[in-house]
Amino acid sequence: MLSLCCLISRNTTAIATFAREVAPGRALDIIMISNTIDRADTFMFNTYKRSPITLVRGDGCRVWDEKGNEYIDFVGGIAVCALGHSSPIVSKALYEQSTTLVHVSNLFYTQPQAELAQILVENSFADRVFFCNSGAEANEAAIKLARRYSKEKFGPERYAIITMENSFHGRTMATLSATGQEKIRIGFDPFLEDFRYVPFNDLDNLTAAIDKSVCAVMVEPIQGEGGVVVPDGEYLKGVKEICKKHDLLLMLDEVQVGMGRTGSLFSYQHFGIIPDIMTLAKALGNGLPIGAMLATEELANAFGPGSHATTFGGTPLITAGALAVVKSLLNDGWIENARTMGDYFKNQLTYLQQKYSIIKEIKGLGLILGVLLDRDGTDIVNACMEKGFLINCVQGKVLRFVPPLIITKDEIDLLINCLDEIFKEIKI
Ligand SMILES: *Cc1c(COP(=O)(O)O)cnc(C)c1O
Repeated sequence: MLSLCCLISRNTTAIATFAREVAPGRALDIIMISNTIDRADTFMFNTYKRSPITLVRGDGCRVWDEKGNEYIDFVGGIAVCALGHSSPIVSKALYEQSTTLVHVSNLFYTQPQAELAQILVENSFADRVFFCNSGAEANEAAIKLARRYSKEKFGPERYAIITMENSFHGRTMATLSATGQEKIRIGFDPFLEDFRYVPFNDLDNLTAAIDKSVCAVMVEPIQGEGGVVVPDGEYLKGVKEICKKHDLLLMLDEVQVGMGRTGSLFSYQHFGIIPDIMTLAKALGNGLPIGAMLATEELANAFGPGSHATTFGGTPLITAGALAVVKSLLNDGWIENARTMGDYFKNQLTYLQQKYSIIKEIKGLGLILGVLLDRDGTDIVNACMEKGFLINCVQGKVLRFVPPLIITKDEIDLLINCLDEIFKEIKI
């Protein structure tokens, strides 16, 4: 109401009068607003710690702020923009579909979602796909499916799910319950029963947490938000064996590392395991809101008509865009590029590690890479931004690089030079 009034009046005196009457405590704030940052800080929930730049345009691996500053983007929308910004392939698919059919309802069949499901099934372990709008929703669906399937098969007392410490599965109540990070859960209890957290890379503790009530293990093949934590050699194989032995479902959260980022379409393909359920989101739509849960036929049978649904999940518009994304990932060599550029990038980071003791460890696979520092990484993130590079930091001390999969050697070299300069200036 307030912003609407501001918009339509376009008259400072009128706004000031209105603001004084409606929101006296904030009147001054509202009068002072002259730019996007102030506007966002005044009218939006303060749920994000944002960098003080307003991005207005993107092209490939580069974005520009409203002052015209250029940045090479190693955040990529947090592992989302695999084909880069303003991908012409996605734009074309979206434009064509937007002038054909945007939305009907899942009460009817539409072409793009059926085709997208087929291409995902043909390229994975799965037999069926359920579409939704985000990573959290995909995991929410997976949790529901695991419960329903297991209760039908083993009885009503079988519903506990084991997840990992330091994991991240989303912000809805169920996925928050699954997320093994106290700092994210604080203040939102009571949580969904009965989630149990065990340390990642630890098979003994996993086995110890199993009893008759456990139905599934949910794990990120590589922990992303948790600090780019890669599984030890045979760890995921071990998890799979334990699941098999105890008749538990293995649910892989590939929301961050799926869709080519690690150098194969899905990261489980690196680790020699096959899950029962897999969730996808982030790069699946290159920035369009889409999530997906994939599962085997036997599991999918537990979800009949009416069991689970979403209004927007798999609309023609969004699935037409995602279909273009998946086809390009599969056919244009970007997954291969993620592998070769990822190896190159990791080597260059390793050279930096040899030069600077501030770097404790280089981690990751393909184009999800982490640099563990001996200190908080905020200053380095900010210094990079000033020099024209967007990077981010997780768990305080881990610089995380999840650039578009179309990143080039030249762009990586530019970032490495930038980091080299920054580390050189830092006093140990
Ligand atoms: C980002 C992320 C999610 C949550 O996805 P949203 O789209 O933000 O709901 C879940 N799991 C993993 C591994 C993620 O990286």
